[in-house]
Formats: sequence, C-alpha cells, structure tokens
Amino acid sequence: MEIIASPAAMQRWSEDARRRGEKIAFVPTMGFLHEGHITLMREGRSRATLLASSLFVNPTQFGPNEDFSRYPRNFEGDCELMRSVPVDALFAPEPEVMFPAGSQTWVEATEVTQGLCGDHRPGHFRGVTTVVAKLFNIVKPHLALFGEKDFQQLRAIERMVVDLNFDLQIVPVPTVREPDGLAMSSRNAYLSPEERQRALALSSALRAACEAAARGARTTAELALAARAVIDRTPGIEIEYVTAADSQTLQALEEFDRAVVVAIAARVGKTRLIDNLVVTPSALPAR
Ligand code: AMP
Repeated sequence: MEIIASPAAMQRWSEDARRRGEKIAFVPTMGFLHEGHITLMREGRSRATLLASSLFVNPTQFGPNEDFSRYPRNFEGDCELMRSVPVDALFAPEPEVMFPAGSQTWVEATEVTQGLCGDHRPGHFRGVTTVVAKLFNIVKPHLALFGEKDFQQLRAIERMVVDLNFDLQIVPVPTVREPDGLAMSSRNAYLSPEERQRALALSSALRAACEAAARGARTTAELALAARAVIDRTPGIEIEYVTAADSQTLQALEEFDRAVVVAIAARVGKTRLIDNLVVTPSALPAR
C-alpha cells in the first residue's frame, strides 16, 4: 500500500492509473477502522481494479464543542487493516495541507442537510461536502462508497455529485452491525460496558418502528412514536431527535405512503450516537 500525503502526488497516482485503463474505487474515512469501513473497502475492491482510501479527521465538520481533539486515532492499526483488504493507495494528508491558511471556498447542499443532524450540528454537512469535494478532485475515483449508517451524509453527497456534475458513481453500502444489533461506529470506543448495553436501545427502537410498519402504520408519526417509546423506557439515554422522513429527500412527511428513513440521534453518557433504518409501507426494508 502506497501512503501518500500530498494532493499533487495523489493526483499523479490516479492520473497514471487512469492512463493505464485502471478503474479506481475510493473509500474516504476518518480512521479508527472497524468492520463497517472494511466492508466498504471490500465492496470497492470487487467493483474496480484499484482501491484508494483516505484517512483524514476533518476539522471543518466538527463544531466547537464537539469531539475533534479526542476523536479516536490509530494510524498504524488502520494501515494494517487496510493492507489486509488490500488497499492500493492511502491518502493521509495533514490538516494544514487540506485547509491551508486563506481557504475560503465551501460546498453546501442546502435542502437535504436540513432536519435530522443538520438541525443539531450547524456547519457539519458543509464541512463534509467541502472535504469530500476536495477528496474527489484529489483522488479522481470512478466510484466512491459511502455507508448508509450516515444516511444524511450519503444523501448530501449524492446531491452534490449531481448538482456539481462530478464524473463518478456513488455506491451506498448498508449499515454493518454488531451481532446484537449495535451499528458499528468509531465512536463506540467511547462507551463503557454499561453504556454499550444501553446503546442497544437505538437499534431496538428502529426494529420497533419496523414492527409498527408491519402492523400497518399509516403515518410517520406512528413510526417515530414506536421508536421513541423504546428509548424513553431505557434509563441513561438522552434523545436528540427521533424522526421519520422521506428516504430520498429527507423532507418531513406525514403520510407513510413511501419509503421512509427512521433516524435517531441520542446521547449515551457523553457519547452521541446515530442510527437509522429505511422502512416501506409493506414493512420490508427498502432494498
Ligand atoms: P467515518 O470514518 O466514520 O467518517 O466513516 C467512513 C465511511 O464509513 C462513511 O461512508 C460511513 O458512512 C461508513 N461507515 C461508518 N460506519 C459504518 C457502518 N457501521 N456500516 C457501514 N458503513 C459505515
């Protein structure tokens, strides 16, 4: 695996590969890798001839009171996992290289980033779309893989790619879960054993929403209420939001007459966790 720190060197690697007729898949990450990330990478490998990944904890997507400085990091361990996939090129720049003094250009998807996390993390998605646009220009992939775990991020990036005519394909990958249902996340490392147990309420809540759909729920409020009830009866979890929205536009929706994403953000102790599930009126996951 080549480890590349400079944008110009990364662009050269990709241009050389493209000239040789290679197809480049790309998985951007913030590191502290788990099976969710590795699943994206394996999927990328199976769809292309070369796999590039990036490791960059992006300061512009963290709010002033968020966990940027204590975000878990393990560069050597991550490199080892990437080599096992294997990843062909890892782009791992320093923050000053990605956002040098004087940077002032932002990329923002304005509507799909309203509601859900957009209401609670001002500036977050603008930071995400900006860094991903830069990464696309640096890595020049033919396809890029993103997890449905970060559903609103996925929709914002899909929107950006259409709106700005990026010449690449976005491939969504379903959420990878622990055997007991907990969605894998680098932030799970923050949880104490008791908190880890309480965190199961998120995936249980989503299952409850799915069951409400199977029982014939007619409104999105019924889905959200069913999910909320599970978390409400779990002590030590503070709900930030429980929402059921149109799974394409993420707009609020009253009637449950199409695919809906039930999305949850909650604090377990100091740790903010998110999870979501797409449900359809027939109660089948929408895929
Ligand atoms: P992160 O390092 O958290 O920025 O995540 C990098 C990529 O991995 C994003 O596209 C995430 O959506 C994806 N990802 C994170 N956790 C999971 C998971 N449990 N299942 C599938 N994809 C995931």
